[in-house]
Amino acid sequence: MIDTHVHTHLSCDSEETMAAYLYQAERKGVKVLCFTEHADFNPYDYGYLYYNPDAFFRDIGHAKRLSAGKVEILSGIEFGETHLYPHQLRLLLKYPYDFVLGSIHWVNNLFPDEKTRMKYDAKEFFDMYWTQMLEMVKFGGFDSLAHIDFPKRYYGELHYKGSVLREIFSRLLENDAVIEINTSSLRKGCPESMPAKEIIELYRDMGGKCVTIGSDSHIAGDLAADFEKARALAEEMGLEICLYRERKRYIWREASARPQGFDMLKR
Ligand SMILES: [Zn+2]
Ligand SMILES: [Zn+2]
Repeated sequence: MIDTHVHTHLSCDSEETMAAYLYQAERKGVKVLCFTEHADFNPYDYGYLYYNPDAFFRDIGHAKRLSAGKVEILSGIEFGETHLYPHQLRLLLKYPYDFVLGSIHWVNNLFPDEKTRMKYDAKEFFDMYWTQMLEMVKFGGFDSLAHIDFPKRYYGELHYKGSVLREIFSRLLENDAVIEINTSSLRKGCPESMPAKEIIELYRDMGGKCVTIGSDSHIAGDLAADFEKARALAEEMGLEICLYRERKRYIWREASARPQGFDMLKR
C-alpha cells in the first residue's frame, strides 16, 4: 500500500505531524508515504505564501530518522496551477523533490465555494475549469494530475466534453505525466473517487498506463482511506499503480512490496 498525497501542518489547512502519519502507516501496513504539502501562489488562496520548503525538508529528515526504513518516506509537493507560476515552480524544484502533483484549485480568482456557486452554475464553472486544466497540462511541470474533477465535490455535479478531456489527456501524456485517483471525495459525501470512472476510462483509452493513488489526508487517521476502492478501480481499468522517486516513475508490484522491489517504468 502506498499513499502519495498527504498533508501535514506544513500545509495551511492541516495541523497533523509527520510522526502521526508514520504511526498510522505502520498500523495500516502502508509501505510508502509521500508528503505533498500545498504550494499555492494565487493571492486569493488561504495558504498564499504559507509553504516553507526548508521547514518541509527539515521535517522530512526527522521523519526518515524516526521511521528508520520501516516506511519509505518520499518528498512531494502539491503545486497549484503550474502554468501560472513558472518562476515559483522553478525555485521550488531546486529542492530534491521526489514527486510533484499538479492541481487546479483556482480558476482565476474563483474557487468553487458558495459565493462562486451563486454566480456560476456547475456547467459554467466546469467549462472555465477545463480551460485552465488544458493550459496547465500544456505547460506541464508536474508528474501526476491531482483530483481531476474536484469541483464536483462542491457542486455535486460533473460536466465535461469528451473532446476537451481527450485533448487534456493527449497533452498530459505528451508531457509524460499520469493522473491521480484521489479518494478524499468519498469522505466528503461524494459517491465516487476523483476522477469519475468514465474520466479514468477516457484517460486509459488515450493511452494512459498508470495512476498514482492519494488519500489527500489532512489528518493521520485518513491515511490510505478507501484505497481498496481505488485499487479495485485501477485494476478494473487495467491501469497500474505507480509512484515517483527523484521524479522518476516506478510501478508498484504488490508481490514485492519493499522499496527495492519496484520496477522502473520505461516508456
Ligand atoms: Zn488539492
Ligand atoms: Zn491535497
